[in-house]
Amino acid sequence: MTEPLSFELSRPNAPSPRLPDADVSAPGPADLLPRDFLRTHPPDLPRLSEPEIMRHYSRLASLNYSISENFYPLGSCTMKYNPVANEAAAALPGYAGIHPYQDEDSVQGALELMWRLEQALSAVVGVDRVTLQPAAGAHGEWTALRMIQAYHRSRGDSRTEVLVPDSAHGTNPASAALSGFHVVEVKSGADGRISLADLESKLSSRTAALMLTNPNTLGLFEREILDIAELVHATGAMLYYDGANLNAFMGICRPGDMGFDAVHMNLHKTFTTPHGGGGPGAGPVGVKAELEPFLPTPTVERSNGHFELNYKRPRSIGRVRSFYGNFGMLVRAYTYIVAMGGDGLRQASEDAVLSANYLRKLVGEDLEMPHEGPCMHEFVASARNLSHDGVRALDIAKALLDREFYAPTVYFPLVVPEAIMVEPTETESKATLDSFARAIKEIVAEARSNPQALHDEPQKLPVGRLDEVAAARQINAYLQGSSDDPVLRWKRPSNEPC
Ligand SMILES: *Cc1c(COP(=O)(O)O)cnc(C)c1O
Repeated sequence: MTEPLSFELSRPNAPSPRLPDADVSAPGPADLLPRDFLRTHPPDLPRLSEPEIMRHYSRLASLNYSISENFYPLGSCTMKYNPVANEAAAALPGYAGIHPYQDEDSVQGALELMWRLEQALSAVVGVDRVTLQPAAGAHGEWTALRMIQAYHRSRGDSRTEVLVPDSAHGTNPASAALSGFHVVEVKSGADGRISLADLESKLSSRTAALMLTNPNTLGLFEREILDIAELVHATGAMLYYDGANLNAFMGICRPGDMGFDAVHMNLHKTFTTPHGGGGPGAGPVGVKAELEPFLPTPTVERSNGHFELNYKRPRSIGRVRSFYGNFGMLVRAYTYIVAMGGDGLRQASEDAVLSANYLRKLVGEDLEMPHEGPCMHEFVASARNLSHDGVRALDIAKALLDREFYAPTVYFPLVVPEAIMVEPTETESKATLDSFARAIKEIVAEARSNPQALHDEPQKLPVGRLDEVAAARQINAYLQGSSDDPVLRWKRPSNEPC
């Protein structure tokens, strides 16, 4: 079930791939590059024929788990189906074949797409303007916090703190810290929602912003959001919305209407562009009018039916990404939005919430549900009820892998012990949800009858249980200088010639 490395498969006499001759003639590469930068020996690369390379990578790909093969119930990550129509649109030569330095007049269609995507996203979240530049959710958070910082500074107000609830995604405090803010944690109440009393005690004239997700990472709607917004604004601070997952409310309610001043959206979650290893992300940020002057440069503007990039924005925080963002992702997201239409997006959210509540009910027969339902687009269960059998959330996650399901998010959010966070999304059928619930039932029964068997799973994958303790020890020893490097890459055996 494993595949050797290409270095191990390498044959010194394998025929080289047929590449066209370099079309750089006089002056040749040797004349263009400084002599010191030129290689004296060819690089030490593996040598395989074209079909051998293709088979090697195909075999590797078949070892991987992917959304195109199985259910991926990763809570907080919205792993929904990536429609193939998006790929066809992104591959159109007018999108795929253009260059960022091209004349604006020759890329009017691409600029129009960006402009229209901005309109669509603004309408979904209820803001005045959107920048499409940030390359991921965390990057969007950071971009928005820089704008909020610039806004306060422009008023001669140097606020130093950002409030973040204890249930927040880890990127929230990280983005705040990277923007130079001091992070202050706000506690959740017993019902899993933010504690208003704790929030009030932490708000002050030092507070630049409160970062919030609604529904929060427990999949619960913050019902007191209007009071929260009022409290935050009364101190002169801004309210930031972590909109990585908009799957609960598209077409139903909008962060802008709840009082949020800035929001990021993950196109690679809600708007079906590929995720993680599937390609680059995109984390557009929407803002209300008071933050608009600080948006990254350039913005896309329309005047008299002509589209142009506006670089003359003196109060802008500057550019946050080369060129205009991950354009291919923008094409995919726009294709999805147009294909769905406003009613379709609303239906997607309603189905996502229905799926989550349906699955929550089934899984609730076997795992603890620490918070009262109904939930929104995801739910958090706890494996705490299995601890007397010596079984943990990690064991359940590993056992699911053997049953052809990807593992849900585990041990997050941190406020729930032995957390198992599930987001089924709207794109999965009832039959898939039923079989997932059956797998959980089977695993929990095994936890009670034969916990040791569970500790030994997965058995059917190329790699079973990794020794995480040994790995952590070795990394620590390496960092303290008392062990060799962890082996993370192939090295030519010293007795073998190059
Ligand atoms: C995924 C996620 C993020 C971070 O998005 P990235 O694109 O991974 O940087 C932030 N907040 C929440 C709630 C998320 O689910």
